[in-house]
Amino acid sequence: MSSPENPEKVVIFGSGPAGLSAAIYASRANLTPLVFEGMEPGGQLTTTTDVDNYPGFAAGIMGPELMEQTKSQAARFGTRFEMDECESVDFSSRPFNYKLSSGSEGWSESIIIATGATARYLGLPNEERLRGYGVSACATCDGFFYGGQVIAVVGGGDSAAEESTFLTKFATKVYLIVRRDALRASKVMQERVFNNDKIEILWNTEVVDVHGEKEVSGIRIVNNKTQEERDIELAGFFLAIGHIPNTKAFSHELDTDPDGYLITQSDSTKTNVEGVFACGDVQDRIFQQAVTAAGSGCMAALEAEKWLEE
Ligand code: NDP
Repeated sequence: MSSPENPEKVVIFGSGPAGLSAAIYASRANLTPLVFEGMEPGGQLTTTTDVDNYPGFAAGIMGPELMEQTKSQAARFGTRFEMDECESVDFSSRPFNYKLSSGSEGWSESIIIATGATARYLGLPNEERLRGYGVSACATCDGFFYGGQVIAVVGGGDSAAEESTFLTKFATKVYLIVRRDALRASKVMQERVFNNDKIEILWNTEVVDVHGEKEVSGIRIVNNKTQEERDIELAGFFLAIGHIPNTKAFSHELDTDPDGYLITQSDSTKTNVEGVFACGDVQDRIFQQAVTAAGSGCMAALEAEKWLEE
């Protein structure tokens, strides 16, 4: 247990590619980092299937396996792991005092924030009530349950394109609901959507509400050009409209952009508080890739090491 007199050298909040890569580098620098794994150990990759774009795996690798391997790699060099989540940090104290969801607390000379981002929802009247009962933001987790049924996916980015394509493995039909008249997704992903007979794109369309008593039975949509509303019967309603960075525990004292992403210095993982570093999706609104998260995790550990030495 750490104390103000005997603090940790480095504490890492988050255990996705960023947090675990930081842990590998920090442990190899003999900093014996302590990782608080958070509510989703392994991060967002644990809710994906094949990861085909992470270097080093010619045949691809399953997301959960990649994260298990990365965790073992960090543990091999002395990283310690705890299943807990950061509630708050007193950034004005030295060493930093952090409080955890379990009610315990600790002290650390430096902190690496790698808490990632969480799926965004639309905020529809019945969306929250039906979450887990047909409303989902994770096609790879829940798609399996919709064999032989009709599904809708909202969004126009790579996630929406990827998830709607994936869901056609199970569903008889997938509506892709796009608020504009174009997809934001990369060309290759767009092609996959356009070439899939099971996907029907509803352009210029927004969702007004989700129907269903105990589980989703349909949605009401509106064409935002004509204002024409209509109902669609379906069993699954998937959101793929981006993410919200997980900064609740930190944003009172760390600088964030208007969307809540932690601001780091250019070419660095340094935040506005000395000794506090941020890496991965919590500070990256542009790339949001496992490999870029891992790269920034490495940077955070090297910068923390240098800062501790100085
Ligand atoms: P994006 O931010 O790229 O896209 C979000 C999409 O949701 C946009 O099309 C946006 O519409 C739409 N949207 C946002 N808010 C609403 C709303 N209130 N109502 C309706 N639609 C809305 O997020 P993604 O999660 O798709 O991707 C994030 C990052 O991850 C990107 O960099 C992406 O390239 C990457 N990614 C890569 C993958 C891969 O390479 N295999 C797979 C998945 C993601 P609009 O276009 O009008 O703004």
